[in-house]
Amino acid sequence: MTAYDDGNIFAKILRGEIPSHRVYEDDDTVAFMDVMPQSPGHLLVLPKAPSRNLLDADPAVLAKLLPVVQKLARAAKTAFEADGVFIAQFNEAPAGQTVFHLHVHVIPRYDGIALAPHSGTMEKPDVLAEQAAKLKAALAAG
Ligand code: AMP
Repeated sequence: MTAYDDGNIFAKILRGEIPSHRVYEDDDTVAFMDVMPQSPGHLLVLPKAPSRNLLDADPAVLAKLLPVVQKLARAAKTAFEADGVFIAQFNEAPAGQTVFHLHVHVIPRYDGIALAPHSGTMEKPDVLAEQAAKLKAALAAG
């Protein structure tokens, strides 16, 4: 199995070396907006613990991650008045993975509206900031 490389962009975000639009953080987990959203409100949920993806992750880390994914999926559905929420996670490049620190995509979905392409168009920072604020408000409201 390929070793984890802490030079990946999400490791840099976790270390605070590059910015992100954070929506959630606890002792084990961070969530921030995807800069190339496939739908408004597309966010990513990451464990702080290093692993490339699901395949090399510690099951104890996964056990803490999924409840946070659920919390954020519920908040995203409310904040963006979505009809559903798509949860996605890719393992290695042939499966579509482009950043090699485990992360789960949380993507609001709407009846009859197709998803934008994966890693497609960069969203404007002020739009991402506004969406992050909406999500934080939905989280705070429970
Ligand atoms: P994947 O590894 O294929 O699951 O996808 C990585 C995701 O990270 C893509 O959806 C990208 O749009 C997103 N992404 C890449 N760089 C950044 C960044 N600096 N901040 C937030 N999201 C990013």
